Amino acid sequence: MKWIINEYPIKELATGEVLNLKTYTVHGSPGPHIHIQASVHGAELQGNAVILHLMDLLNSQKMKGSITFIPLANPYATNNKIGTYTYGRFNPVTGHNWNRNYVDIIKESNFNIDEFAKENKDYSWGEIRSKFKAKLEIVFEKYVEDLIQSKKLAENNKLNLLLQQLASKADGILDLHTGPVATRYLYSAEYQEQVAYYLKFRHVVVIPNEFGGAMDEACFMPWIHLRDALKKYKKNISIDIESFTLEFGSEETFCMQNASKDVESILNYMKYKGLLEGTPDQIDSHACRLKNFRTIYSPKGGLVDYHFEPGQRYLKGDTLASFYNLKSIDPKDPIVSCRSKVMAEEDGIVINRCPSSSVHQGMELFQVMTKLEEHGAIK
Ligand SMILES: [Zn+2]
Repeated sequence: MKWIINEYPIKELATGEVLNLKTYTVHGSPGPHIHIQASVHGAELQGNAVILHLMDLLNSQKMKGSITFIPLANPYATNNKIGTYTYGRFNPVTGHNWNRNYVDIIKESNFNIDEFAKENKDYSWGEIRSKFKAKLEIVFEKYVEDLIQSKKLAENNKLNLLLQQLASKADGILDLHTGPVATRYLYSAEYQEQVAYYLKFRHVVVIPNEFGGAMDEACFMPWIHLRDALKKYKKNISIDIESFTLEFGSEETFCMQNASKDVESILNYMKYKGLLEGTPDQIDSHACRLKNFRTIYSPKGGLVDYHFEPGQRYLKGDTLASFYNLKSIDPKDPIVSCRSKVMAEEDGIVINRCPSSSVHQGMELFQVMTKLEEHGAIK
């Protein structure tokens, strides 16, 4: 196996140091290309442990195709420490969520996709796919160059556009994240839902084939636009390029032992994509549509005792958490007098919860999957 290491400067700091992005690409025999990045949110570390295991395993495997690994994909966010805590989700300069700064490049660049579809509709899908990838490369280069020339390459552009451009060559894009305190779960777009189950996550949130600023969406949108444009010329294709967000547990944790199990998810997907030999399998999963992936906002302020941990199922009427308001203690009955409960309004599964037990009214308390759809493993 041949490894190629590249380094890209992404930010010059006020003190003159330059932060770099380092990519590690492994090449086997000809085949599909996969892009794997971790830690765009700086506190979300587990994906790096998964990458290490995967890199290690691939040295003793026969592999088709190639994989680009980008561990610590956002060094600025990873280095943003406050006390023992990593302030990694939002750009501290602009306040923006680091995973909402990507662009729908076809729309933003005014690339004429109708014309491309018209010119190429008679080619095979394989030919159209490689022509479109080559076109995307040019579109990104021109888009970034125009931003530089017009002095509009702002704080949020450079890193996100570089990641997007690198991923535009891929047939599979895996963006490794974590929740706050979370179980393992996966975001998949509707068009690729059946492929999603090869990633073997117990919990799958199915999102629309639409753009909302995240990496997974930014990477699949060009292909959605292309599919729709080709349809106008009576060429129906089913997109064989996937882009997922994988949530590997909780932020601020890095566990090599858990990663040795986490990595099975990606190995199985590699079998599905034909990079590794073997038949991919699936597990029983719970899925829910994005509209049923609910955030429960804290109805009050206080100290919180959480009664359900991420991954646990609950029923309507269960007490999800108890609140203690220490300004309403009756000293004669201190515990009961200041306690109130947050009850479940419908059945569901806790996917993640607020890491803190001290919350203000209106903060995100839980994210839960409701109206569950069961996906059975292939027998
Ligand atoms: Zn994240």
